[in-house]
Parts: sequence; C-alpha cells; structure tokens
Amino acid sequence: MLLEGKTGVVLGLANRRSLAWHIAAAAHAQGARVELGVANERFQEKGAPLAEELGAGLPVICDVTRDESIQEACEEFGRRLEGLDFLVHSIAFADRKDLEGRFVQTSRQGFQLALDISAYSFPAVVRFAEPLLREGASLLTLTYLGAERAVPNYNVMGVAKAALEASVRYLAADLGPQGMRVNAISAGPIKTLSASAVKGVQQKIDLQARMVPLRRNLSGVDVGGAAVFLLSDLASGVTGEILHVDNGYHMLGAWPVES
Ligand code: NAD
Repeated sequence: MLLEGKTGVVLGLANRRSLAWHIAAAAHAQGARVELGVANERFQEKGAPLAEELGAGLPVICDVTRDESIQEACEEFGRRLEGLDFLVHSIAFADRKDLEGRFVQTSRQGFQLALDISAYSFPAVVRFAEPLLREGASLLTLTYLGAERAVPNYNVMGVAKAALEASVRYLAADLGPQGMRVNAISAGPIKTLSASAVKGVQQKIDLQARMVPLRRNLSGVDVGGAAVFLLSDLASGVTGEILHVDNGYHMLGAWPVES
C-alpha cells in the first residue's frame, strides 16, 4: 500500500486502454483516492463506469485548450479532495495528418495545436492546480522516445514531447523549494487511442517486442507500476527525471532482429 492515505488526480482518461486508466488503477490498488479528468462529455460518459470502479466521482471535464475549463476542473477537484498529493497529466493530441510522412510539411496551425495540447497543457494545469498541491506532492507526465530521436511518423509530436520534457525540468526547479517533485515516464509503444493515430504503430510494437532486451511487449501495467513508484514516497529524492519504461529499447544501438 505505497499510496495509502494519499489523494490525487489523473487527467487524460479516454477508455480502459488509456495509460491514465492504468496509472489510476495502479494508484488505487496501492491505497490512493483518485479522481479522474477527461477532455469532453463523450469521454465523461465513457469514463463514468471506470471511475465507479475506483470509487471516484463522475470524471471531471478538463479541456486543456481552455484556461476556464482547467480552472473549473481544479475547483471541482478541490471540492472533492481538498488537497492533492499527486497529479498525473496523460494528455496529448496532434492532427492525424501530421503523424505521417515528412515532418517538414507540418503546418503552423498543426505545430501550434500539437504543442498547445501536448506540452503547454502540463505547466498550465500545474499552475491552476498549484493552490491544491500539498507539500511533498508528486507531479507526473507521459512522454516518448520521439522527443530524443527522430522516430518515423512521430514528427511534430516528437517536438511537442521535447518541449514537454524541458517543461518537466523547469517545473521541477520551480516547485522543488516547496518540496514538490516533477517527473515524466517515457513509455514504449502501447496500442491506445492516441497511439493508433501515429501511422505504423502496430509494426513498431511488433518489431520492438523482438528487439528489446526483455523480448516482450510493454503493457499498461508496466507503466502503472513505474508511476506508483514516482508518485510514492519511495521516489522522494527523484525530480526532473525522465524515466524510460520501454523494456530497455531506448538504450539499444543497432541490434540484430531475431527471426
Ligand atoms: P489516450 O488516447 O488513451 O490518452 C490521451 C488522452 O488525451 C485522451 O484521454 C484524450 O481525451 C486526451 N486529450 C486530447 N486532447 C485533450 C484536450 N484538449 N483536453 C484534455 N484532454 C485531451 O492515449 P495514451 O496512449 O494513454 O496517451 C496518454 C499519454 O501517454 C500521452 O501523453 C501520450 O503521448 C503518452 N504516451 C503514450 C504512448 C503509447 O504508446 N500509448 C507512449 C509514450 C507516451
């Protein structure tokens, strides 16, 4: 029960495949009280039975493209939980046409959209949630190797994730003096709603299972477990960190694929 007595919020629930769901379920299993955030009414309706499984209220709409929506959501979380020991941001979006082909074709509008929802939203949410954060609170976001390397078709989302990872470090510097920690998990590919928008994701998943040191696919449970660690007091000295949870893929050089 690593999170016994802790309360927190997980933003970015779409369905049972969402990393947000795996993280919320893992936190709940470790004794945390968790409330959930969703993008809109459609996901609120879909997420209601999942929230019920965790003993949480109706998922709260938090559309990160609008400050008013973030503010209203934080007010609602405050009414439900009083204070937060953790906050998880599991949100990303880019236009599907920008997740295939050549990065050089990315439009100004597509670039701004991806950066707004996938990177700026993290500091924005933290700003509105700050009055709710307790001393020692742990903040967490989700990133991907495409921030560090040019991964086929990840394109503008790789640029957004690079900005998100830099935001983790600046937020960690800002909030550290108040005893708060800010980290990211860089997860390997898992088939979710968002991941499906990136062209060729299934091929990537199949190929990586044969290449990675652990020789298997990554699951949401792997990500949930690492998230519990970072949200718990066991990680009390860890901040500004990007933790790779990808079965070891990130550290490989060229490697023969086993048949
Ligand atoms: P998902 O589709 O289940 O979750 C993405 C969430 O972002 C959805 O709930 C969606 O509603 C939300 N979102 C989009 N626009 C929003 C807005 N304007 N306001 C609020 N929420 C909005 O997919 P996922 O794979 O669970 O993605 C969660 C996070 O994990 C993302 O940051 C993603 O980039 C990251 N990630 C995923 C993988 C993977 O392979 N699945 C790997 C590494 C990192």
